[in-house]
Amino acid sequence: MSTSTYETYALRYAFRDDNTASSTFYRYELYGEAEKPYPMDYFFWVARNSDRTVLVDCGYTPQRAEQRGRTLTATPAELLGRIGLSPAEVDHVVLSHMHWDHIGNVGLFPNATFSIARREFEFWRGPFAHRPCLGLALGDEELTAVENLEREGRLFQVEDDHHELYPGIRLITSPGHTPGQLVTDVSTPDGSVVLASDALHYADEMTLDRPFHVFTELEGMYRTYQLLRSLAARPDTTVVAGHDPAVTAGYKEVAENCLDLSAPVGAR
Ligand SMILES: [Zn+2]
Repeated sequence: MSTSTYETYALRYAFRDDNTASSTFYRYELYGEAEKPYPMDYFFWVARNSDRTVLVDCGYTPQRAEQRGRTLTATPAELLGRIGLSPAEVDHVVLSHMHWDHIGNVGLFPNATFSIARREFEFWRGPFAHRPCLGLALGDEELTAVENLEREGRLFQVEDDHHELYPGIRLITSPGHTPGQLVTDVSTPDGSVVLASDALHYADEMTLDRPFHVFTELEGMYRTYQLLRSLAARPDTTVVAGHDPAVTAGYKEVAENCLDLSAPVGAR
C-alpha cells in the first residue's frame, strides 16, 4: 500500500440506548416531529499503512464509564488487538476535541505524539471552560493528562485551518461543537474517508441541517455542516459521523465492534 493512503477503521467502544431525538437536537420542537429513540454509539478511529498508525481520538476510560453509568463494549486496547495492533504501535493520536469521551486514554500510548487545534487547547484552559453549559463535557483529569503531554513535548498544536499532518492525512479545523474541533480527511486506495468525530454526531445533522444540542458556537455548527456537505460531494468520499449507529450497521464488521470503513454493507 502507498504510504500516502491508509486502511481506515471505526472501533465502537461503547453505546447508550436511553437517548432520544429531543435530547439530541437543539430545539427539536422547532421541527414539529414526534419524540423518538436516538441511540448513540461511541467510536474512535484508526488510519494505518505500512509506515504509520494514526488514531483519531481514544475513547473514555473504564473508570469514567463506571462514574457516568455508561457501558463499554471493550477497552480501546482490546479493540486495537482485534485488528492486530497494540497501543505501543500507535505513532500519533489526533485529539479531535477536548470532550471527556474522546481523550480519556492518552496515557495508553507510550510511543505516540498527539495533535490538537491550538484554539481548542487554549479555550479549555481559559476562563469560560468551566461555565456549566460549556464545561459539562470537560473532564479535569482528562485536561490534566493533555497538559502533561504538552509538558513532555508530545503535543503538537495545529494553527492552520487546513493542516497536512502526514501525506494523505489532512486536519480541518471546524468550529461549532467546540472552538477547535478537528475533522480528519484521510486518503484511502478508493478515495477519501472523512472522520468527522463530533463535528457530526449523526449524519442527520448534515443531511437535515439540524444542530446537535451541545455547542460553543451555533453559526459555526451550521457552517461546519455546510463544509461537510461539500466534502461529501467530492467523488469517492465517505463522511463518517462520530456517534451514529448507522456507521455500525453500514460497514463490514471485521472483528467484533471493528468496522472496516472501506467496506460499506450493501450498495451506496
Ligand atoms: Zn463532543
